[in-house]
Amino acid sequence: MTTQEKSDIKNKIKNDILTLNKQIFTLEEKVKPIAPDCGLGRLTRLEAMGEQDVNNKILDESRVRFTRLNNALQRIDTPLFGICIECEEEIGFGRMSIRPESVRCVECANNL
Ligand SMILES: [Zn+2]
Repeated sequence: MTTQEKSDIKNKIKNDILTLNKQIFTLEEKVKPIAPDCGLGRLTRLEAMGEQDVNNKILDESRVRFTRLNNALQRIDTPLFGICIECEEEIGFGRMSIRPESVRCVECANNL
């Protein structure tokens, strides 16, 4: 990976972190407990709870990715960045630019 490619990835990670930060904040607002008597009908209330389940799931996934991206940002200036933790081969710019939080190359990820 060239220095330029690394700096492109670094910018992407920072952007993704900002986007995720906003997304997490919005979701946290949405998953706040629904007041029992907020004037919703029974069906609407069930729907709202279903939507909350979905949002909670997205929130969990967003938090995991947020942590991974922050870890990637800490690794990016070390020689370990972009190196597969299984086979120790270079992961490749293509994959790293799409998923900068990757710690495994495509083959090793598929063998999990
Ligand atoms: Zn590998």
